[in-house]
Amino acid sequence: MGDILQFKKPRAKDKHKGKSLCKSGFHKWEVDKSKPFETREGRLVSRYVCARCGQVKTEAK
Ligand SMILES: [Zn+2]
Repeated sequence: MGDILQFKKPRAKDKHKGKSLCKSGFHKWEVDKSKPFETREGRLVSRYVCARCGQVKTEAK
């Protein structure tokens, strides 16, 4: 159990570091694998999610 907690700590730190980049507007956009496309008003748009903060953006094709 202690090992698991030690393993998690550096990952949480990395996440925090990334978020400061996100705050500056440098998101790490990746295609949302769970839902790469969605339709909006009958048009297909690509769906991106930030790998660090989870913010979502959509982009018309
Ligand atoms: Zn972000």
